[in-house]
This record gives sequence, structure tokens and C-alpha cells, in this order.
Amino acid sequence: MEKQFNCPQCGSDRTQKARVLYESGTSASKMTMAGLGVAGGGKVGVGVGAGAGTSQTELAKKLSPPVKPALVGRRFLAWLLVAVGSFTLFNGFLLLATTTLHHKSNGVGFLIFGGICAFSGIFIFKSAGRKLKKRKVKYEEDYTKWERTWYCNRCGHIIDELDSKTFEEFQKLGKNLKELEGLVSRIDNLNK
Ligand SMILES: [Zn+2]
Repeated sequence: MEKQFNCPQCGSDRTQKARVLYESGTSASKMTMAGLGVAGGGKVGVGVGAGAGTSQTELAKKLSPPVKPALVGRRFLAWLLVAVGSFTLFNGFLLLATTTLHHKSNGVGFLIFGGICAFSGIFIFKSAGRKLKKRKVKYEEDYTKWERTWYCNRCGHIIDELDSKTFEEFQKLGKNLKELEGLVSRIDNLNK
């Protein structure tokens, strides 16, 4: 069985793992999605997708895992620049290969423009890659932290396993406290 953690704020044992609460709160919205799909047939596809996010419980939203970084837009822009750049470069070389001087000078223009596009595309791609790497490190950290997260159903405190004690530790602590109290009262009795 998995360890259980007491709430460090109120001491309650009514705690649950964030992942469990998140998944149960999110699967409910998936059920809504399937129901809508059956009822409306293929037509409601778009509306169903939009409704899926909002039907997630507030608690599940609060306890959701970190979002995986992607930088999709920037990568798309980079690929676009590289594609346009290489196409223009290719045409520039074709024009250079022709004999007319007018075409040749156009070819030079194409090469310059294509080169700038391709290089800036590569630059953006590389810098996006570096940024993504940094964000991924942060994401991994956040994700590990999320996996350690518990929620107190009594006081709503969000618990980090590292800040809390397991049930056994908590019980042991209570036992130690009782023993200590017993010891104190015995000393008190001795002094009387
Ligand atoms: Zn609590």
C-alpha cells in the first residue's frame, strides 16, 4: 500500500494524492464528452471539445500537473523561414546558371534574401531549442514536485510530501508525546 501523509497544517489524515484527485476530477469531464458525442452524433464534435476543458472540477484544475513546454509557434516560424529560404536559394542558383545578365542579378538578390531567411530560421530554431531545454528542466522539477503533492480534504492545504509526515511517523510522534507527558506527570508527582 502507498504511504499516507498527514496534513502538516491541521494534522488531519483525510489527505489524498493530487494525482488521484486530478484524475478523478478530469475523467468526469471525459464522460461528459462521450455522452455528448453519442447524443449529438458527429455534428457536435467542436462544441464537445470546447466543453471538455470547462467541465473539469475546480479542485482538479487547482491540482493539475504542470504543462509540458512546446514552443510550437516559434518552431513553426523557424521551419517556415528555412523552407522559404531554401526554396529562394534554389531559385537563385537556377537564375545564376542562366546566361542573361538581368537574370543573373536577380539571382544574386534571390541568394541574399534566401540566405537571410534560411539563417534566421536556423537561428530561431536553435535559440528555441535552448529555451525549450531550460523550460524542460523546470518542467521536470515541477512535475516531480507535483507527484509529491497531496491535498488535505479537511482544510484545503496543499501538501508537499517533504514537509509532511507519514501516518506511521505521525502516530509514533503522538505515542512519543504521550510517553513524554507520562514522564512529566511522574516527575510532577515525585516533586509533590
Ligand atoms: Zn489540513
